[in-house]
Amino acid sequence: MNLILMGLPGAGKGTQAEKIVEKYDIPHISTGDMFRLAIKEGTALGKEAKSYMDKGELVPDEVTIGIVRERLSKPDTEKGFLLDGFPRTIAQAEALENLLGDMDESIDYVLHIDVPKDKLVERLTGRRICPTCGATYHVVFNPPKEEGKCDHDGAELIQREDDQPETVRTRLEVNVEQAQPLLDFYREKGYLASFEGDKDINDVFNDIDKKLGELSE
Ligand code: AMP
Repeated sequence: MNLILMGLPGAGKGTQAEKIVEKYDIPHISTGDMFRLAIKEGTALGKEAKSYMDKGELVPDEVTIGIVRERLSKPDTEKGFLLDGFPRTIAQAEALENLLGDMDESIDYVLHIDVPKDKLVERLTGRRICPTCGATYHVVFNPPKEEGKCDHDGAELIQREDDQPETVRTRLEVNVEQAQPLLDFYREKGYLASFEGDKDINDVFNDIDKKLGELSE
């Protein structure tokens, strides 16, 4: 099951990703998480990625495609994968087609979680993240059992730098511009499956799950 997850920041990608990978036992491959880990570990890749991420810019395609190529070659992708945050450009999408072609694989679905922009501002400013395991919460819509603490490991939840209200609107606008050509690209190829994301987390997952069920029919 080879999947790409798309949606504007705050659309609920992280939450749905957790559910999808748990149910289908495929790895969650998030380029943003991979870069953040490299930064934390102080690797050369991390240093390079940080210089772009700090400015809110995309890491260059050759670097990003390189880490995805390496990641997809690992044995745990045999059953499939869920790509999150990649591709972000048409060049990345084309590189992915080639990469998968070389592996005799192809994309099954591009899962697009669609939420109106004004709802996203509300969602994003309330998002909290576990710095240790990456689990995501929302102060109103998906609070942890104990306020400010991760359900999985008890770590103190943080607010991502780029979820601060003043940066959220700009981020959304930039993302809409980036995402549109990719959505068109995948729609034309017939891979695109859009889901209404402005509803209960479990209802969104049920819709996605139903669609994924078609793959095994
Ligand atoms: P994310 O967690 O997906 O929002 O990604 C955080 C940051 O990592 C982005 O703002 C980019 O600087 C970088 N990044 C993540 N994925 C990509 C990608 N596919 N191409 C280029 N840069 C990326």
